Amino acid sequence: MEINFCNLCGATSEQSIPEGDDKPRAVCTQCGHIQYQNPKIVNACIIEHDGKILLGKRTIAPRIGCWNVPAGFMENGEATRTGAIREVKEEVLADLKNVTLFGVYNIVQRNQVHVYFRGELAHPHFGAGAETSDAQLFAPEDIPWDELAFPVGITALKRYIKEMESGDFSIQEQDIVIDYEMLKKFDV
Ligand code: ZN
Repeated sequence: MEINFCNLCGATSEQSIPEGDDKPRAVCTQCGHIQYQNPKIVNACIIEHDGKILLGKRTIAPRIGCWNVPAGFMENGEATRTGAIREVKEEVLADLKNVTLFGVYNIVQRNQVHVYFRGELAHPHFGAGAETSDAQLFAPEDIPWDELAFPVGITALKRYIKEMESGDFSIQEQDIVIDYEMLKKFDV
């Protein structure tokens, strides 16, 4: 996304390569401030309880009405783990225990890095919170794969379910490639 104005002084910014840099940046024509654009971090947590997975149903775009692993953009002043725990509390009103790293997924086409944790319900209380119309526990065989919101969630969840059979969880780093032709099918 092109930046047209300086976020410090509000004057016009122009794309140019600052001295010592090798990429065009939004440089303010008045104060010289450089606005860097860098990838955003999304934190998520796959939640298990009694052999089932807790998912939330989305009420916000994109993918309204689809199920998703609780996830959201990291806030300033927050760590990845506390971000994931916060998102879970906000979206499905659940408290977690045994939260541990599960996977790092790069979505280069979206300039995003998704950090997935796994955890367990600290107590069997949950419900629909912010941006969520429903929260449900799904047995692995009942997960509505066709109604899941995002490829990254599907990728993480598929590996989780495979690994939960043995209880031998790994940590993986993987690139997610978005199929834009496939996404056109979705009314979002
Ligand atoms: Zn400026």
